[in-house]
Amino acid sequence: MRWVKNCSGNSAIYFLVIVTIGGGVSISIFDYINVDEVIRFAQALVQIPSESGNERQVAELIAREMRKLGYDEVYVDSINNVIGRIKGFGNGPSLLLVGHIDHAEAGTMIKPFSGELMDGSIFGIVGEVIYGRGAVDMKGAMACMVYAAAAVKKAGIKLKGDVIVAGNSLEEVSAAEGVLYMLDNDKITADMAICGEATNLNVCLGHRGNAEVKLTVKGRMCHASNPSRGINAVIKACEFINFYLENYKLPKHELLGDCTTTVLDIRAVTERKAPIVPDLCHVYFDRRFLPGETREKIIAEYKEIIKQAQKVIADFDADVEITKWGLALYTPVEEKVVQSLQKARSKVMGEEGKLSAWIFGTDGAFIADKGIPTVGFGPGDEAFAHTPEEHIPVKHLELATKVYAQAILDICG
Ligand SMILES: [Zn+2]
Repeated sequence: MRWVKNCSGNSAIYFLVIVTIGGGVSISIFDYINVDEVIRFAQALVQIPSESGNERQVAELIAREMRKLGYDEVYVDSINNVIGRIKGFGNGPSLLLVGHIDHAEAGTMIKPFSGELMDGSIFGIVGEVIYGRGAVDMKGAMACMVYAAAAVKKAGIKLKGDVIVAGNSLEEVSAAEGVLYMLDNDKITADMAICGEATNLNVCLGHRGNAEVKLTVKGRMCHASNPSRGINAVIKACEFINFYLENYKLPKHELLGDCTTTVLDIRAVTERKAPIVPDLCHVYFDRRFLPGETREKIIAEYKEIIKQAQKVIADFDADVEITKWGLALYTPVEEKVVQSLQKARSKVMGEEGKLSAWIFGTDGAFIADKGIPTVGFGPGDEAFAHTPEEHIPVKHLELATKVYAQAILDICG
């Protein structure tokens, strides 16, 4: 250790590679990561409930930790986004490490905010895990990111570009309100970004987009005692749903997977007081889509399937609109941020691993939409997000922190 300090002028160079000193002592960036602290911090984050819109307390805990760890600039904005920056000393590329700090409701989970360390075997995991709501989605990754950037600072490495670690609010319930506020109002920008949503420690190039499509099925009102005089919009909607699920053709993508669709909701619009046959029914569909598919294309497809349905369903008529639009994400493997992550993963875990895609959507797509190449890498398995068994493997926390730290050196160093 002392030997490195004595070479302070060039210390950055010595840390970029593992340095072996005569006696066999080697020092690397990984020596500045205290895994126990990462685990403790991840537990502390899980122990603070932070449903969407109530992230203040957890944002302030992250801000305090960042200040303690020597971040150069830390603040929590008015909608509970927390941002920490470690400043670079040159004109090198800047890197944004980003995740969300809200979580889905806990539902029937037992002790969802215990943040307990437990044996992972009940979840089929070898080794210990942290249990609790938000553990894998995604407070574990936030802890790793905060400590990865801090390790660089602690090692005294002077980076050329800034590292920004950001935890955004309002991911689970809104159309990226938190992350967009951070990008547009806080003016957070970077040359590249890593989104830490769970990827099982694989480099993840993107995900499908999600459209919420609303159909307004039209019928004719009449007295419920004599239904044949009217057109029941709910029954027509049900007939259409069956036709749609059998006949609607969806595109496929070799990495992002097959597009899917399902029904989210069906409801009669007429407020029923008297016994009447409903004349309007809303049906909401979830339609996953690929990069390049537009709102216009999807609307046209629905109009076409309505036309086909009209040939087989008597008196069927409906209007269609898109009510929510979550962007798709696909970052080419040639991007520097992908290459750096693959190299970092290889250094930490012995191999680049397979390129993957998320099944769910992320705020990463909205960052990429601002022209910032964005790639995914995170601890834990997305299959446990929003489930009563939510947990994060402790070993993943260690590996993810190391991969993030190595990627920071490669990109900003
Ligand atoms: Zn998430």
